[in-house]
Amino acid sequence: MTRSLLHVPRYTHKLGIDADESDSELSPADYIVARLPELGEANAEGWAKTCCPFHDDHSPSFTVNLDTGYFLCFSSNCGVHGDFKRFKVLWNQKEQS
Ligand SMILES: [Zn+2]
Repeated sequence: MTRSLLHVPRYTHKLGIDADESDSELSPADYIVARLPELGEANAEGWAKTCCPFHDDHSPSFTVNLDTGYFLCFSSNCGVHGDFKRFKVLWNQKEQS
């Protein structure tokens, strides 16, 4: 008996909203703006500036790209950087500490 490929329920789980995965469905902009309300307006390339959420920052040295989620802190004491996935990992660690 051959099973019809049309009936393989491979992608159906993506239709439901899983509480644990809801964050990963958010665009970088939605996720980041919700957590960094002080974020300045993004420039033409999508980069916006704010105080770094990962160190005790007093002047905005944290830039993040709302299109891609890439981020970089210009403070020499901090220097945190990475892609959107990394941002979420760091944010979760920060929440738990
Ligand atoms: Zn920093």
